[in-house]
Amino acid sequence: MKNKLSLVWLACLLAVGVCAQDTFDTHFERKSLRVDFALSGNATYQAAAIQQLREEPVWAGPRKNLIDEFNYGGYHVYVYDKTTNELLYSRSFNTLFEEWMTTDQAKTEVQSWTNTVSIPFPKKTVVLEIAARDKKDMLFHPLLKMDIDPTSIFIDRGSLKNNQITQIQYKGESSEKVDLVFLAEGYTADEQDKFVADARRFTELLFQTAPYTDHRDDFNVWSVSLVSEEKGTDISGKGIFRNTALNSGYYTFGVDRYLTTPDMKSIRDAVWNVACDAIFILVNTDTYGGGGMYNFYAIGTADNPRTPVVFVHEFGHSFGGLADEYFSSEVAYNDFYNLEKEPWEPNITTLVDFDKKWKDLLPAGLPVPTPLNEKYKNDLGVFEGGGYLSKGIYRPMDHCMMRDYAPFCPACSRAIVKMIDFYCDREY
Ligand SMILES: [Zn+2]
Repeated sequence: MKNKLSLVWLACLLAVGVCAQDTFDTHFERKSLRVDFALSGNATYQAAAIQQLREEPVWAGPRKNLIDEFNYGGYHVYVYDKTTNELLYSRSFNTLFEEWMTTDQAKTEVQSWTNTVSIPFPKKTVVLEIAARDKKDMLFHPLLKMDIDPTSIFIDRGSLKNNQITQIQYKGESSEKVDLVFLAEGYTADEQDKFVADARRFTELLFQTAPYTDHRDDFNVWSVSLVSEEKGTDISGKGIFRNTALNSGYYTFGVDRYLTTPDMKSIRDAVWNVACDAIFILVNTDTYGGGGMYNFYAIGTADNPRTPVVFVHEFGHSFGGLADEYFSSEVAYNDFYNLEKEPWEPNITTLVDFDKKWKDLLPAGLPVPTPLNEKYKNDLGVFEGGGYLSKGIYRPMDHCMMRDYAPFCPACSRAIVKMIDFYCDREY
């Protein structure tokens, strides 16, 4: 009897899997529609506007996990069937623009930044919606809604530059793996071998770090060689400017160690023909710094002594949706978190809605918040300080990769494994 039940159960599971797969193939081609859009505004206002639509040849994302249940990020893209209004696809992400909105500059200036999302290429007309999270209610509100006809002459279907793509490790079908792509930044024509060697070295570093150690087979890893005219990157605060492929630089928002690039168009142009779920931009310099935005990109430097941990930390932001757990370093943000609401990141809490966070991982009877004393200082708990604030935000452990490059705490590890499961098209 038990065997029979198991068989029935297995048949049901298979049916659900086949059905989800059918949903993808009913509505989408196995390629991508890239949507470039501007976000413009200031500290109190933002608007979105389409810049270009592109058909691109690869869809590397999951084909069953089409609806994003994480509820992370500052933005969300939704794709609806035009006829039935059924939600077909959704995915959330962060942008650099939303960080800029919290800086002093945004109080006196209006700016416009380029962003991009890729969705599976629709077979019929769909409604695309881009929504932004309002920190007052933490809900997503529409910024832009438009019909997209997949046969439209306004979709660019052309090829872009064929850069050298190196397969660093291949473990299987891209829609069932995390496809991590390293991009070269600040490597000149005669430094391209160094770039591929650096990408291989970083791949090993990632899989030497728990929880990635147990998930090597869940990743395909690629590198895309991009030639820069000059080595390194901009250090604008010191008057240093380099002509590089992806226009990166330190001093983002005036912070010396904050290395980013606003040039999303060049980044997406570089990955147009490669399976890509996650981007890490490797910058050819030994200066300390980096950055990472959820489902956007992460960036770090190749040759600083602390590079290995910076890489894993920044990738924690961009891949895992993890918050910074530190609270004593300089940042340019004002009111980054609303303490009246629960932040969306899985590894910090304001205790407004802690049930949704790592409460289930805590032993019974543990005091919440947890005092940072001899008894608890090495345990999982709820310690005050995190998310750039020493008061009102709490972190899961005193030390973690997302604070000071210690091993990932259990809350962060669980969030990373969930994201791996999502991309591998498993239940998450
Ligand atoms: Zn952590």
